[in-house]
Amino acid sequence: MLPTRVDVLIVGAGPTGLALAIVLQQAGVNYLVIDKLDCGQNLSRAVVIHAHTLEIMEALGVSNELVRQGLTISKIAIRDRDQALLRVRLDKLPSAYRYLLMIPQDVTETILGERLTALGGSVHRSVTATAIEQNDGGASARLATRDGERMVTARYVIGGDGMHSLVRQSSGMAFEGSTYEESFVLADVKMQWLLDPDENSLFLSPAGPVLVVPLPGGSFRVVAMLADPPEKPTKQDIQRLLDTRGPTGGNNVVQEILWSSRFRIHHRVVDSYRSGAVLLMGDAAHVHSPAGGQGMNTGLVDAVVLGQLLVKVLRDNRPDATLDTYNTLRRPAALEVLALAGRLTRMAVLQGPLLRRLRNSLLRLVDHLPPAKRHLALDLSGLSRKTFSKID
Ligand SMILES: Cc1cc2nc3c(=O)[nH]c(=O)nc-3n(C[C@H](O)[C@H](O)[C@H](O)COP(=O)(O)OP(=O)(O)OC[C@H]3O[C@@H](n4cnc5c(N)ncnc54)[C@H](O)[C@@H]3O)c2cc1C
Repeated sequence: MLPTRVDVLIVGAGPTGLALAIVLQQAGVNYLVIDKLDCGQNLSRAVVIHAHTLEIMEALGVSNELVRQGLTISKIAIRDRDQALLRVRLDKLPSAYRYLLMIPQDVTETILGERLTALGGSVHRSVTATAIEQNDGGASARLATRDGERMVTARYVIGGDGMHSLVRQSSGMAFEGSTYEESFVLADVKMQWLLDPDENSLFLSPAGPVLVVPLPGGSFRVVAMLADPPEKPTKQDIQRLLDTRGPTGGNNVVQEILWSSRFRIHHRVVDSYRSGAVLLMGDAAHVHSPAGGQGMNTGLVDAVVLGQLLVKVLRDNRPDATLDTYNTLRRPAALEVLALAGRLTRMAVLQGPLLRRLRNSLLRLVDHLPPAKRHLALDLSGLSRKTFSKID
């Protein structure tokens, strides 16, 4: 049975919606979290959690379980086929989490969902928000349920409803940016892989980039940029990408496709994370290239920061203006992430022999500059953006 009035309505129970629900549940704030799907998505999608995200998620009581179920990787390498250009180690990061945690997104969502249940919370599923309207006391939401239409009023409505956010569109919040020419193919595969199993490897080649990262349970994620990717990449498609872009010699053999997909990348951020009683987080507020694996990580930090600010307003009686801090903190973080993902993408897709030679020389130079490598490690791990998650 849905309530008709709540303090916080969270639209979307992806990773950000679940994380925000946990923060509010722990603090005893009145909320409702809905999702149009009748069960969580069973797709691996984002596969890395970075050090800063794990630090932030300690407040939710899930970091230990994530680490237990994930695979830790301490090295990143950029290679031009067989030649190493730049190697970065993460085992000296100034964090308790000195690694990349490889863990499929469906496992992350299951861990978050189980934590919410253990705390006594739950997601109201098969409930779709179809319209949001702001009024004097907050906002009202029209919801489509199995039993017909329902109206819920809330002091705050939070859009954690992904890239095509209804909450964002209903509130007329601008989502400026562009769509890249390139598309990505991605596949989770079983394969014989002869390179270091403790390394995420990005291969640059004249044919384009391909990324290979180990996953828990002995499988691998392969990601490549392609102009016109097949809808469901096959074993042969992924083998061809590895043979033409990865290490030479043909010794790395794809044995089985566990999941494959393709997607187009956009590069967008909302003008403001807040419009009156409506606030956005995660992909509803920012989308960008998956280079660097920052998307879900940035969204999870958004959710925890927003949750902590909502607790201050709704439980600790701080003024409503306290919530403005959310935009002040998190929009600059998204802009930095968009810039980082954009730089990595442009570096990976450079065309033409001269530019490629120049890029490779620059990467080899950086490989001999420890401060530059440390800077890159801090950017990737999110630790360089710590100030954007600090609340007074
Ligand atoms: C194929 C693919 C591969 C990806 N790979 C990577 C990667 O390698 N690295 C990376 O960092 N990121 C990756 N991403 C992006 C990553 O999945 C997102 O950043 C992350 O899921 C964002 O979380 P979110 O909670 O903001 O939104 P979402 O995960 O999109 O969740 C939104 C939720 O809202 C629900 N919803 C939507 N509209 C409504 C409505 N009107 N009413 C009720 N519920 C609604 C949806 O059902 C969904 O459950 C990938 C995404 C895709 C699709």
